[in-house]
Amino acid sequence: MQGFIIDFKPVRDDDLIVTLLTSDEIITTYRFYGARHSHINIGYKIDFELESNLKSTIPRLKDVIQLSFPWILDKEKLYCWQRFLKLFYTHLKGIEELDKFYFNLLSNLVHKITKQNVKRAIIEGYINLLDFEGRLHTDYECLLCEKVVEGNIALVRSMLPTHPKCSYSKSFKSNQIKSLFEEKSSIELNDEELDYIWNILLQGI
Ligand SMILES: [Zn+2]
Repeated sequence: MQGFIIDFKPVRDDDLIVTLLTSDEIITTYRFYGARHSHINIGYKIDFELESNLKSTIPRLKDVIQLSFPWILDKEKLYCWQRFLKLFYTHLKGIEELDKFYFNLLSNLVHKITKQNVKRAIIEGYINLLDFEGRLHTDYECLLCEKVVEGNIALVRSMLPTHPKCSYSKSFKSNQIKSLFEEKSSIELNDEELDYIWNILLQGI
């Protein structure tokens, strides 16, 4: 089985509770001596086996093999990736069964990040996630005053559109946001604008 590590918590000595996002479920597992193994880290993709234990409701994680990425030693890429993957733990908390969309999105992103700017790739991926979950507001209705935003658009948490004067937030030209929402492309955004949107994403997916 394969999965992405979206959370781990130390429990007595070197053991860990590890949460994995797999193609059809979120799995919470118990890893003995996990802290001693460098291949347990947020964002890592692993191949693994589960072993059920009669004494515990949490299966044991074993035979872990790290499936490395071509950019695993690129500090900036790995740092951004780990911050993004961490957000899935909170976002999908309490969910067990999962649509394949999430695993596929992350697997495709691993490839995209090899060639593309990491923040661009992740932001475009996140817009696809919002669209999949029916949370992408292409009606451009302002979250605050509920009127359609005609000119410049400002974004708030979860990429919700607002009038810049309603949210007192950074103003984007409407074609920039429409290209992002409708073409799933960040091409109209410069690096500084991209950083701004990246910080919105970090508030929670
Ligand atoms: Zn408004």
